[in-house]
Amino acid sequence: MNRVEADCCIVGGGPAGMMAGLLMARAGVSTVLLEKHGDFLRDFRGDTIHPSTLEIMAELGLLESFLQRPHQEVTTLAGNLGDTLVTVADFTHLPTRCKFVAFMPQWDFLDFLAEQARRYPAFDLRMRARAEELVVQDAQIAGVRAQSPDGELEVRARLTIAADGRESVLRERAGLDPVELGAPMDVLWLRLTKRADDPHETFGYIRDGRIMALIDRGAYWQCAYVIPKGSLAELQGAGIVAFRRHVSAIVPFLSDRVEEIGSWDDVKLLTVRVNRLRDWYRPGFLCIGDAAHAMSPIGGVGINLAIQDAVAAANMLAARLVRGDLTVDDLRAVQRRRERPARLTQALQLFIQRRIIGNVLARGRAPMLRRLPALMRWFPFLPRIPGRLVGLGFRPEHLAT
Ligand SMILES: Cc1cc2nc3c(=O)[nH]c(=O)nc-3n(C[C@H](O)[C@H](O)[C@H](O)COP(=O)(O)OP(=O)(O)OC[C@H]3O[C@@H](n4cnc5c(N)ncnc54)[C@H](O)[C@@H]3O)c2cc1C
Repeated sequence: MNRVEADCCIVGGGPAGMMAGLLMARAGVSTVLLEKHGDFLRDFRGDTIHPSTLEIMAELGLLESFLQRPHQEVTTLAGNLGDTLVTVADFTHLPTRCKFVAFMPQWDFLDFLAEQARRYPAFDLRMRARAEELVVQDAQIAGVRAQSPDGELEVRARLTIAADGRESVLRERAGLDPVELGAPMDVLWLRLTKRADDPHETFGYIRDGRIMALIDRGAYWQCAYVIPKGSLAELQGAGIVAFRRHVSAIVPFLSDRVEEIGSWDDVKLLTVRVNRLRDWYRPGFLCIGDAAHAMSPIGGVGINLAIQDAVAAANMLAARLVRGDLTVDDLRAVQRRRERPARLTQALQLFIQRRIIGNVLARGRAPMLRRLPALMRWFPFLPRIPGRLVGLGFRPEHLAT
């Protein structure tokens, strides 16, 4: 068995883990990051880089080079309610350098963070390394055991950070159980070609009891088709032709290309879960990102919260790790700081799930939505509020100097 020692072992190279790894290594904390996949090329991930994350990139001095990577800048988000187009979020008034959400495939974002982190000698990224067990010593979590291309690997560390996402194995091994908050929907993920004369705004569509979101990925639309939870088998039973008809009915300009959905193999199910841990930590162990709180896709804020957790953890723990005097109180303090933003965001998501999405999917209409176009006309500043909640969130973090 190979053995490595470090100040910090991070499991999971998603947004939370990769940002935590970069910041820890930058602060001189020797950090081993284990990622079970060989690359970051997975399609199911969200693609939104929010103004608060862009602010962190600016504080790191990386904003310019980051924005040289291909991306789309979106200053407002619009929803199509039946035939009425309504601006639902406006980012142009945010007190940030970037007054837009950058849409960038998540693998590019993670590649960029990995590239920056590798510049620090304290950073050791191990790809295709799957953490399986915790190492426990003197009633304290002291690292992990993993399977890697070179065989079994043991990483010993003062702090183990579980950033291994919503299906976190490590939190389960640590005896931490999330409280499920429920979601009435799942999402079907598919791609359709984008044509030059398509509408350019990023759209959510709500029509006749159906909901679909389109994300502009340059050459194609990444489509998120929302279905009532657990209803995929019924939809599949009706056949792919009927599904193509649903897509055409909800977004008519796509009807000339729905044949691209050749079979159900072209449609991926993403199970939506919303949950959170009561305790994010054990001695020597901390959960961040989706491992601590899986977010609903509403508002596309999961990546942002994961990044903010990573910034707070690095700000509050890096110096302790370097000095070697980390205590469980420090880990509790990270949870105290980040739990409230996660809870408040989830409360908003649950409200929208219940009052809008659940109603649309179950009854074909949501009374709240009927009043929305008029409200937005009467109070044109209203979209700035969701703009702030989505773009900055509650308690945006900044890098400690
Ligand atoms: C349908 C859907 C759409 C979404 N859309 C958006 C969106 O548009 N914008 C947005 O901000 N958020 C979105 N989200 C949420 C977002 O994807 C997550 O909140 C975010 O990715 C969480 O980041 P993370 O780093 O905590 O976890 P993850 O991104 O899940 O990363 C975890 C990493 O850990 C690795 N890993 C897991 N287990 C192990 C192990 N045992 N050993 C080693 N490595 C391991 C995984 O391979 C992965 O790379 C969406 C979620 C869903 C379900």
